[in-house]
Amino acid sequence: MKVVTIPAGIYAANCYLVYSENTKKAIVIDPGGDVDDIMAKIEELNLDIEYIILTHGHGDHIGGVLELKSFIDVPIAIHKEDEYMLKNGNQNLSSQMVMGTIELNADILLEDGDEISFGDLTAKIIHTPGHTPGGISIKIGNSIFTGDTLFAGSIGRTDFPGGSYKEIISSIKNRIIIYPDETIIYPGHGPATNVKIEKANNPFLR
Ligand SMILES: [Zn+2]
Ligand SMILES: [Zn+2]
Repeated sequence: MKVVTIPAGIYAANCYLVYSENTKKAIVIDPGGDVDDIMAKIEELNLDIEYIILTHGHGDHIGGVLELKSFIDVPIAIHKEDEYMLKNGNQNLSSQMVMGTIELNADILLEDGDEISFGDLTAKIIHTPGHTPGGISIKIGNSIFTGDTLFAGSIGRTDFPGGSYKEIISSIKNRIIIYPDETIIYPGHGPATNVKIEKANNPFLR
């Protein structure tokens, strides 16, 4: 499996292209903007995108979805408890962001434990609420895409509507860092890390 990271949009939310080297089948995680850059990479690598999967419903992670879908018409998946955000610019905070109001519908509503296969890879959905009610982490092979739940050395904000500090800590401790030390963490903002480093150094997990 290969991962391409594209910091996208004015808030530099990490957009990830995850693909199988054998089949070129791929998914896009969190296209927050800069769709020209995302499309250029997709074309350069000759990827066959099968799904757009959103870690949560905030505007900085969904800002490019509709434009991307105009180029590649594939299903959009989000956890069922964040669906209300997609549909409402006030709930997804885009109405207060520079890009302006973004409202759209999902095609697939995810639940904990769901699996989405593309090529020879499988994305396992882990419900990790706390930053938002329907926040998910996506486990593919020995990598986990954590959205705004877990960052290198930090955690996501819990002061937005629907956020919960207690829940985000529980999600990280009981649902993310339970995986082996060498599991790679790809966060929604900033650099990648791994389970071992976060267990040892993340001040929020002491
Ligand atoms: Zn967020
Ligand atoms: Zn974010």
